Order: sequence, then C-alpha cells, then structure tokens
Amino acid sequence: MANQNGGELNPFKIAQKQLDKAAAVLGLDPAIHAFLREPLRELHVTLPVKMDDGSTKIFKGFRVQYNDARGPTKGGIRFHSQETIDTVRALAAWMTWKCAVVDIPLGGGKGGVVCNPKEMSPGELERLSRAYIRQVGRILGLEKDVPAPDVYTTPQIMAWMADEYAFLKGHNEFGVITGKPLELGGSQGRGDATARGGMITIREAAKVLGIDTQGATMAIQGFGNAGQYAATLGIELLGLKIVAVSDSKGGIYNPDGLDPDDVIKHKRETGSVINYPGAKPVSNEEILELPVDILAPSALENQITARNADRIRPKIVSELANGPTTLEGDDAFYKNGVYVLPDFLCNAGGVTVSYFEMVQNAYDYYWDLPTVHERLDIKMTTAYHAVHETAQRFEIDMRTAAYVIAVDRVATAVRLRGWV
Ligand code: GLU
Repeated sequence: MANQNGGELNPFKIAQKQLDKAAAVLGLDPAIHAFLREPLRELHVTLPVKMDDGSTKIFKGFRVQYNDARGPTKGGIRFHSQETIDTVRALAAWMTWKCAVVDIPLGGGKGGVVCNPKEMSPGELERLSRAYIRQVGRILGLEKDVPAPDVYTTPQIMAWMADEYAFLKGHNEFGVITGKPLELGGSQGRGDATARGGMITIREAAKVLGIDTQGATMAIQGFGNAGQYAATLGIELLGLKIVAVSDSKGGIYNPDGLDPDDVIKHKRETGSVINYPGAKPVSNEEILELPVDILAPSALENQITARNADRIRPKIVSELANGPTTLEGDDAFYKNGVYVLPDFLCNAGGVTVSYFEMVQNAYDYYWDLPTVHERLDIKMTTAYHAVHETAQRFEIDMRTAAYVIAVDRVATAVRLRGWV
C-alpha cells in the first residue's frame, strides 16, 4: 500500500526496507539478508465463536514466527479490526530485532485476530481467546513460541489463553504466555514495563543530549497501557510535564500540564480522554505537531509520514508504539535533527520483563519489584548506549543503528547454526 504522497504504508514493506538500510551499513551477506527479509513460518486460522445473541461469528487470526535463531519466538497477540497479515509480519520482524537489541535469548513472533474488542462482551472475548489458542496452541510452547499482550489484549485475556493451553497439554505450563496476572505466574513490574523502559531510554538520551527533563514538556499520542504509564512515570521518574494526551477518539492539550491520574480516571468514567475539563481539544494529527520537548507516539503504525513529518519538531521522539514512523518520516527527522528513540529499542521494556517472567516461571521462584526494576534498568541503559554509540560511529540515524546491532546478533546466530 502506498499513500497519496508516494510514501509506503505497508508495515511489512517498511520493515523490510529498514532492514535493507542496515544490511548496507553492515555489508551483510546477501543470503543472510534475503533470509532475514522473510518470516520463517506463519499460521493462518479461522475461528468460529459463539456470540451472546446465539449466532456464530467467524474470525480470522494469525501467528507469525519470524525468526528463532536466538531462541523461541516471542511477541504479543493483537486484537484489532484493522489487523492484516502484513501488519503481523512487520510486528514479528520488529520483535526479532527488539529481543536482539536488548540481548535477551529470544526470537521474534507476533499474533493477531481481526476483531473489534470494544464491541465484544467479556464472554465473547473469552471464547475468542480460547478459540485462538485451540488453533494456534499446536505451534506454541516454552521452547517454541511464547505470546504476550499487545494492543487491546490484557492480563485477563492472557489468563484465559494460559488456561486453554493448560487443557491442551493436560497440565499447567504458565511460562508459555507472559503478561499474565500476578496470581497466575505473572511478574512484578510487567504492567508498566513498556513505559518504564521507554522512560529509562529518555533519561539516558537526555543526559547525552544535555536536556534537563525536570519540567520538560511531553505529548503522548495513544492512551492505552504504554501511554498511560508513560504519563504517570514521566512525572514520577523524570519530572516531565505532560501537556497533551490522545486516544482513538481525540486528544486534549493544556500547556500548563495535565494530571495523568485524573485524566485516567476521566477516561475510565467516560470511555475517552476527550472533554476533559480545563483542556483544549486537539486531534490525533495535531497532537504530533505541538511545540513540545518530547513526543511519545504510543498508539499504532504509520502516524508520522511524508505528509506531516516536516512539521514535527520535538527534541526527542520516544516511540512507545511499534512502527509509528514511516521511512519518509525518518528521513525528515534525520534532516531536521530530531532525535529518535526507535520503537524496538524504546518499547523493549515490555518484552524484557516478559523474559523475566519466563525465567521466574521456569524456576517457579518469584522476584520482588526492586529486582525487576533494577534488571530492567540495566538492560535498557546498556542497549540505549550501544545504539547511540553505533549511530555516532557510523554516522547513521538511531533506528538504523539499532538495526545494525540487532541484525548483526541475529545474523551471527544464523551463521553459527550453519543455516546460511
Ligand atoms: N506486545 C509487546 C511488544 O510489542 C510485548 C511483547 C512481549 O512481551 O512478548 O513488545
């Protein structure tokens, strides 16, 4: 898919072209390059689900296992009406690079179901979740492929999925799914891990760039798990001023700062951040162009494109979403000196704590919250500085630098295994 301005909007094509840039910097072996451009395996499933009104609805689902050279494939399951196989392929590729850049021993995968969870009852969601695992369970496993939450999937959904998987196997195998509730083998600190990891990368970037985060302004597009915690942790950990937030219905802006806890309460009560008292309305496009120090795209792909990138000029873009910036967006940011914390680095905190959850499940021994925070901090800080130094050394943008590190690690594993 190409947009009217000639920019590519198919996320998988974008992911492939991002890889191509890094391959050129690395002088990557052509066969390894060709191998890493494609998913290893994918499963397409058709899911009949009994709806509350007595009818049966047929849903389409996918699971893509992109690359397992470094370990079992890992990545979330997204429930979204706009889900496509190419979106899942791109997300699975990004998971491969994400696990590699933070150096956890996992490959990359992703799953998705085409559905509108906002229009489904809890019972319908439970039956859909179980139906998905009945089909996809055959390719999952502690040593094979380990799902987790993504957009519009929750710890409750992970609990139903883990339960269904336990019935398939005949015994509990909690480590096969992460992001579970604490009572079912979840990890301390998994809930806010994506945003917390992102805040750690902002903290380190601010030190390198000489930016004082105390009172620095931040706009957040997307107010789900990552966006909400980015708002509260941005204040708690970095002293940021959150001036604007948005969700799928629209956004709000107050240059004097918003109280995230109160906005979260408003969203819980009304279903959206819109109409929050004392703030100006802004659209999801406008929020990206506000004059802020830090912009955190925390929703979906393809938000920053050839159409608007030139007008988006924060000091730092911290990509908590996967794939928010297109290739043309990246070119504009580089030209304009906008410093990008690329998605699969910035949002890697989620899968890092998922990995900690797998380790804890394997040993059936659970860590306290300070231990999780400390180990997450080490992973994120190390990965951030490696990417920053690589960008400096090769004089490339931060995304390509993150790719250079991740692709080199995966390519080395592929070579050592004798695959190519
Ligand atoms: N869905 C999250 C991501 O995109 C988390 C994946 C996981 O924990 O496996 O990184």
